[in-house]
Amino acid sequence: MKYTNKKNLPDALVQAIIKTTEEYEDFPELQNYISVTRLIDAPFQYFETKKNWDNLTKDVYDMMWAFEGTSKHSVLEKASSLGIKETRFIHRFSLDHRDHEGMSSCYDWHVGGQIDLFNFKDDYLEDYKNTSAWTFHFNPEGKKEWIEQLNINAYLMGLKGLKVKGLRIHGILRDWDKKMYLQMSQAASKAEKQCTYPELRVKTIELPLWSEEDQLDFIMKRLEVFQSWNGEVCTDKEKWYSQKYIKTTNTTIDNYARCEGYCSLTEICPFYQQKLENTIL
Ligand code: SF4
Repeated sequence: MKYTNKKNLPDALVQAIIKTTEEYEDFPELQNYISVTRLIDAPFQYFETKKNWDNLTKDVYDMMWAFEGTSKHSVLEKASSLGIKETRFIHRFSLDHRDHEGMSSCYDWHVGGQIDLFNFKDDYLEDYKNTSAWTFHFNPEGKKEWIEQLNINAYLMGLKGLKVKGLRIHGILRDWDKKMYLQMSQAASKAEKQCTYPELRVKTIELPLWSEEDQLDFIMKRLEVFQSWNGEVCTDKEKWYSQKYIKTTNTTIDNYARCEGYCSLTEICPFYQQKLENTIL
């Protein structure tokens, strides 16, 4: 990966951002290694990032989210007596895969999950998310990918003899606003509804813990998606597609939020390049 600093950010910040990203994008020298965060994401993102890593370019300003995420590490540093923290669990899975001609073969995949904290107090697996208050407002029961990520990690831990009894997410809400909370809670109470905008800057919720059978089933299904990938770009869901309403013209347009602002593969992505040519993005 090559990095640029077009906005002239200070050196220390640049170094911290780059270090964090490289840790996140670590591809250990194991056969078919895939991290849990990659496994629940788009195959195009995984394969193309891995293949083009040395030639991709990112501007550090666009990677600020990674720096924000580092704050959780300093929180956890101070809480080391609580349990197992910031540890990676890796396991090799054998996948029986049938190709499009019906030929069956067995493939090994190494799946690695990095946990934030396994709390010895109640054997809960805990994860810290630097996120928006709106994420909790719109997903009061937790985001689908959080549930998937923590359940896979719980399965990997179970294989090492650590029985996870529950899952917990702690949101550190970068844009939480007290006035907004008061406004939202008043509106909710008028409508006799529960206010889902968080009451405090930190929000903790429990996530559903699947059975071990369901966890393994989910992992194998995701591995199958990756094993059978044949080069397609991301699906609309993986592009974070939605219809965007334009008030001035009273029309809607296609909005690919990830492509437009949160993807490091735009320079090699055929979908993005074609959209660029048509100047739709
Ligand atoms: S630009 Fe969009 S479609 Fe292309 S890799 Fe990025 S998210 Fe996927």
